[in-house]
Amino acid sequence: MESYPVSIEKLIEEFAKLPSVGYKTAQRLTLHILNLPKEEVEAFAEALVKARGTIKYCKVCGNYTDTDPCAICRNPNRDKSIVCVVEQPKDIMSLEKVREFNGLYHVLHGNISPMAGRGPNDINLKSLITRMNGEVKEVIVATNPNIEGEATAMYISKILKPLEVKVTRIAHGIPVGGDLDYADEVTLSKALEGRREI
Ligand SMILES: [Zn+2]
Repeated sequence: MESYPVSIEKLIEEFAKLPSVGYKTAQRLTLHILNLPKEEVEAFAEALVKARGTIKYCKVCGNYTDTDPCAICRNPNRDKSIVCVVEQPKDIMSLEKVREFNGLYHVLHGNISPMAGRGPNDINLKSLITRMNGEVKEVIVATNPNIEGEATAMYISKILKPLEVKVTRIAHGIPVGGDLDYADEVTLSKALEGRREI
């Protein structure tokens, strides 16, 4: 059986390592790349290397940033009394689109999952506690509406309560098992508006 030249096979292999990309999609992406003008491929490769090289986590909130602290944490017009906790940086993008939330964020980079053996020390939680300096009055937990997200919300509520911070959970406008980034802006806006103390 004829196969692709080694360099093409290698590229297909690399694409296939990406999330939700199977062999067939990897093959399609590779052939697409091979049909692009050379300059475009170079710009693409450069963007990959540059993003990986300059992007770091914000020391305050854990969001991706190229300046530390990130633009949101540095913005003097944002309400520092309210912090919205999310699982992933992409959730911030979803919430920012709603344009109703003007507080700060905290990215956990995961969730608590006893089933998968992931505990509080495996996510970016300690730095959330250190942010409770008296200025923060409310923490909105916007973890995903699934078992792990709920377990994480309960844990956060338990550890922040003694610090006299109001802990709220976004409403279940989002279908159970759904992801924040799949929720449309109206649903997310209602979920924020209907948040309840936990
Ligand atoms: Zn930040």
